[in-house]
Amino acid sequence: MSEYKYSTLAVHAGQYPDPLTGAVNVPVYLSSTFELTGIGTDKGWDYSRAGNPTRDRLEEALAALEGGTCGHAFSSGMAAIYALVAMLRSGDHVICSHNVYGGTARLFNLIVRNYGIDIEYVDTGNLDAVGAAIRPSTKLVHIETPTNPLMSLTDIAAVSELAHARGVEVSVDNTFMSPALQSPLALGADIVMHSTTKFLNGHSDGLGGALIGSTPEHKERFLLVQKAAGGILSPFECFLVLRGIRTLPLRMKQHEENGRAVAEFLSTQAKVKRLAYPGLKSHPQHQLALKQQRGFGSMLSFDLGSRDAAGRFLAAIKLFLSAESLGGVESLASHSATTTHAALSDEERESLGITQGLVRLSVGIEDKEDLIADLEQALQAV
Ligand SMILES: *Cc1c(COP(=O)(O)O)cnc(C)c1O
Repeated sequence: MSEYKYSTLAVHAGQYPDPLTGAVNVPVYLSSTFELTGIGTDKGWDYSRAGNPTRDRLEEALAALEGGTCGHAFSSGMAAIYALVAMLRSGDHVICSHNVYGGTARLFNLIVRNYGIDIEYVDTGNLDAVGAAIRPSTKLVHIETPTNPLMSLTDIAAVSELAHARGVEVSVDNTFMSPALQSPLALGADIVMHSTTKFLNGHSDGLGGALIGSTPEHKERFLLVQKAAGGILSPFECFLVLRGIRTLPLRMKQHEENGRAVAEFLSTQAKVKRLAYPGLKSHPQHQLALKQQRGFGSMLSFDLGSRDAAGRFLAAIKLFLSAESLGGVESLASHSATTTHAALSDEERESLGITQGLVRLSVGIEDKEDLIADLEQALQAV
């Protein structure tokens, strides 16, 4: 498969006809258990927690899209991050990007830290800070780039080089870019993580998560966590993600075109402050975005100055829906301080720049003229 280009891979990786029936679509194998052929022998599957034929196909597709050696599907993005850190031990040290998805910080702060694992938040956009934070007990540098919701970037190649020189692995949350726009493994990272809930599924109809590894040890480790801890993706939701993947390259082209158009429109609006979109020349890391991404995507955020202004804007939008999440075909707007980052304290949010006036957009694949008209009328209400 790896000889094919990207859109071909998206349609065909893991998605060949069913060997039994010739069905062109991957069948949804709704079976918890599988008949054994003898004592200790089977046809490749024995119990669906350990492996399911539909999940296998999705995992094959995910590995191909990220250029990894193995893919592993979990019941949500958070279950995937939990699986990523499940094999760490008390005393291990983890460096994590300082403005990660709020749910990642909640998992690390309220659960993983209780296991004696030392989580340190670092501005991974600052290479000196990453270098200074690495200790002999550091096992993992976990990066999110671009970050949610402030769209700041980390140089994946530079951090990977730095970490590898000290024997430390690097994992990248690639949810915001999707495998269509950024390939962390090719840039030197070791593990890619996704919330497939977002662009990979693309239709806001199912949660899911994934880890893609680059070594045989990753495969062994993530398979063990799937089998032992059980946070796996159901066959039906595996099918939904597989179906979403087939149009991922096509959807990302439209997301990209609309994201740029909306960002350009917002950049002309006086009420819009601190507009963050890596595709704009005014973004402080625009050059890095050009270097490590194949596009800028359709996520952006801006500040309307106050909670009241953000509230008026969110009440006035008609086509954009006021809702959490992102990466679906429909456009969404959300108030980060009270949704994705509600778990942080006021001080933590303040120090990251997640203000009460901050609004995040996930620009969908509708006609961009309609989206801009909606934003224009909503801004008049502010
Ligand atoms: C949504 C999201 C997650 C969590 O994924 P779920 O599928 O909601 O559990 C993790 N990281 C990022 C960047 C996300 O956007």
